[in-house]
Amino acid sequence: MATPQFLTFPSNLAPVVPTFAGNGSKLEHPDLQVVFWGPYWPGSGQLTVGGLMQAVSSMVTGPYLEGMKQYGYVGPVNLRQPIVNTGSPNIAYPAPGPNVSQVNAALGATYGLVDSLRQNDAMGDVTSNHDLLVLVFLDPSIPFPQTFNAAGASSGTVFGEHSKYEVSRILAPAIRFAYGWVCTQPGVGLSAFDQATWTFSHEMVEAISNPFVGSGWVQTSPASAANSGEIGDVCNNTACVVDSIVVQPYWGIQEAACILPTEGRIIWIDQTQSKHVPHDSPTQSALVDMGPLCGKGNFDYVERTWDNAVTVTVSHPGYQVPIFSWFINGKPLPAGNSTMLLPATWEAATRTIDFSLLSDSIKETADSRLAGLAGSGHQLVLNPGSPLANAALRVQDHAVFAAPATAGGAPATADPLHANTATLRISVFSSVVSIECGPGQGNVSFEVECQAVENWDGNAGTTVTTKQTNRASVDMTNQEIIWGSAYQQAAKNCYENTHKVAGGGGFPAIPHNPGDPEQGIVINQVDKMKEVQQVETLKEVNQVHQLQEVQQINQLGHSVQNKKLP
Ligand SMILES: [Zn+2]
Repeated sequence: MATPQFLTFPSNLAPVVPTFAGNGSKLEHPDLQVVFWGPYWPGSGQLTVGGLMQAVSSMVTGPYLEGMKQYGYVGPVNLRQPIVNTGSPNIAYPAPGPNVSQVNAALGATYGLVDSLRQNDAMGDVTSNHDLLVLVFLDPSIPFPQTFNAAGASSGTVFGEHSKYEVSRILAPAIRFAYGWVCTQPGVGLSAFDQATWTFSHEMVEAISNPFVGSGWVQTSPASAANSGEIGDVCNNTACVVDSIVVQPYWGIQEAACILPTEGRIIWIDQTQSKHVPHDSPTQSALVDMGPLCGKGNFDYVERTWDNAVTVTVSHPGYQVPIFSWFINGKPLPAGNSTMLLPATWEAATRTIDFSLLSDSIKETADSRLAGLAGSGHQLVLNPGSPLANAALRVQDHAVFAAPATAGGAPATADPLHANTATLRISVFSSVVSIECGPGQGNVSFEVECQAVENWDGNAGTTVTTKQTNRASVDMTNQEIIWGSAYQQAAKNCYENTHKVAGGGGFPAIPHNPGDPEQGIVINQVDKMKEVQQVETLKEVNQVHQLQEVQQINQLGHSVQNKKLP
């Protein structure tokens, strides 16, 4: 078993913190005999001997009893085969009246059953077995016994009880073991099955820590009421779930709180794209300057926007009955369908060369050349100190998609055709959220947050302890620039021409392709000399870089793909 997580709860005496003291008795290695008593058993539907035995087995083999070690429990529990006794319990409750208690009738009848099982050797030799614990599930026809006050009104309902079976013998140690009963009718807000396991867990931990009524762990302060004062009684107002079984927390003296030893809980978020449908604008054109080596020209492009949808799912191992809360950028999402407006940006057509296709040495060459052209409208975002891949990504992310479409053009977000917000269409269903955006909504990214908490947690007067939070960034690229074939050809030519330079194949003095070369660009002799010198010194380096270049382009292709698929 993985290390259990101890959830803690205030007791039902809070803010008073009760104290407990041990008097020696405890069950170190409980020998658990479960008995089903009544003609109903083995039962049908949801309430059966098989189902309850599975639940008990889960309870005693899972993390639930881990907190009992502070009381001297060592474990493991030896869970015996159940005894099914279909005889009628014939429990006769006294009629309601002043100061009447029906509880003793249930305990007395159970004692009678256990006594006959012992005398008939139906439970094997129990004479020196002080680790024995006999817990009896009563027939579901038997109602919860009640207590009545001096006025004859109901003052309490009892779901289960435990006590000691003791027969003294002459010249031999007494026969002594723990036993108890559990009702199996539905409770308030609990099915009969859940009510039965919930009560069973209470009686079991109390019998382990105080098997013989008063000689084990008992509450020392504050003074406890009648029929209480054990480690379950101060924590009996909460129903929790461990390994799918409803159980009760119990008092932990080390934790000074009610504790629920349980499996660890964790959540994480996955996202998958469930829709990615393109919508293209009419063809537009933009001036693209590929630099002095290649020239500039007007190229066709379309704005491609996407209808994107992502499905966000939370995984929640360890949680039993979680409730999920969802947020986008901190704003809570209602269950069902809703819409949300978020800031968005538009990408505009570029006028700068895509230097990501060039090798590092070429970029540096071009960088040094373009350094003298500052203010002329050229843009080159390169950080010579960055690793190659980072520099390439910077170019890809910023240079290509950053500049306005037209010289002197207004920022893209001021374009009245392109709103700077995006509308998300959201559908929340428990652990799954669907988010759709576009077409025509720009580029929008946001943070999706999920909070999980068990449904029993945070009840009035208790402290939330099962809450966990996880977040995921969702990036929806709803708009991008798709260049036409002329641009693709020009970029290819530019790439090849620049390669010739870098590879020592000669410098193209006159820019050619793409588009219409601008007449004003003349490279003077001094520049040309510098260029040749740089080319010479870079030659050897380039032998190495040509191999890296292929890898770099592959990486770029990969990163671009990632970017387009949020
Ligand atoms: Zn109790």
